[in-house]
Amino acid sequence: MKILVAGGAGFIGSHVQDAYLALGHEVVVIDNLYTGRKDFVNRDCRFYEVDIRDAESIVEIFERERFDVVNHHAAQMDVRASVADPVFDADVNILGGLNLLQASVKTGVKQFIFASTGGAIYGEQDTFPADENHLLRPVSPYGVSKLSLEKYIDFYAKTYGLRCFIARYANIYGPRQNPDGEAGVVAIFSRRLVSGEMPTINGDGKQTRDFVYVADVVEANVVVLDHGENSVLNIGTGRETDINRIFSILATTSGKSVEPHHGPAKKGEQRRSVLDNRRAKKILGWVPSTDIREGLEKTYAYFSMEEETIR
Ligand code: NAD
Repeated sequence: MKILVAGGAGFIGSHVQDAYLALGHEVVVIDNLYTGRKDFVNRDCRFYEVDIRDAESIVEIFERERFDVVNHHAAQMDVRASVADPVFDADVNILGGLNLLQASVKTGVKQFIFASTGGAIYGEQDTFPADENHLLRPVSPYGVSKLSLEKYIDFYAKTYGLRCFIARYANIYGPRQNPDGEAGVVAIFSRRLVSGEMPTINGDGKQTRDFVYVADVVEANVVVLDHGENSVLNIGTGRETDINRIFSILATTSGKSVEPHHGPAKKGEQRRSVLDNRRAKKILGWVPSTDIREGLEKTYAYFSMEEETIR
């Protein structure tokens, strides 16, 4: 198949691109390198440095390439940036996404895969873990923009018969995650520990997240290619891990003797977030297989290697 990975120079998209290539698919990447890195784009991909907001260029690329599948991972994904500038967030995440949807129906794309978010659209949860029927109460413009594109995708599926898969991700971690962002606690802690700096735990560290290793997320993006139905599925582990535990495993992995350092709690930060993955198991047969300790060790090893290369 010929597959477009939008945002393929980023953390998750670049792993998805590698997996599709390894399976023998033809892969094209588009990315404006806003947070992505050119060196994450596989040499076996055709790469267009383009902004998904540039409707004219997007249509040109779609008409030239004629994709079977569009896998959409490109986004403005900084929650704080979305609060500071909701217009920019909506421009990229809603209008940019719409450009991809419009070009998809115009050029006969068969399947559209979208990286959405569980945590940011369910908001403060009433039930733990949250399943796909949980109330949708996004508390940031980022959550609102992701949810809006979900609704548009539903419209395109119903109106044009575009086969759609919406993956509501939990907290994804692993090699290539950006350690300079506001989120991505695993990447931030790993980079700090590797470079001998002390990571700061916000507040008491008892806030929980559902951490999924990136290889498991890639697997979901692979199995869904053979999935004929439209679906909205949580991609999570169903397990809560608190930030203190993440720190403790990474600190042990580093072999350094470091004591946790707690800073002030982040205002408005969600206390608990965990996704029910039973529907993904039932519909896709997808089960995350990486244990948190194993995933953290692999991630730490990656950041150590990166540090070595820089030196
Ligand atoms: P990332 O920032 O590494 O990847 C996003 C990619 O999109 C980058 O390569 C960036 O350069 C590109 N991009 C941004 N704006 C663009 C634009 N206007 N035009 C073209 N390309 C653009 O982030 P990630 O963690 O790999 O996230 C990938 C997707 O998964 C995002 O849609 C994000 O919302 C979603 N998601 C991620 C997580 C997580 O825990 N990382 C959780 C839930 C959802």
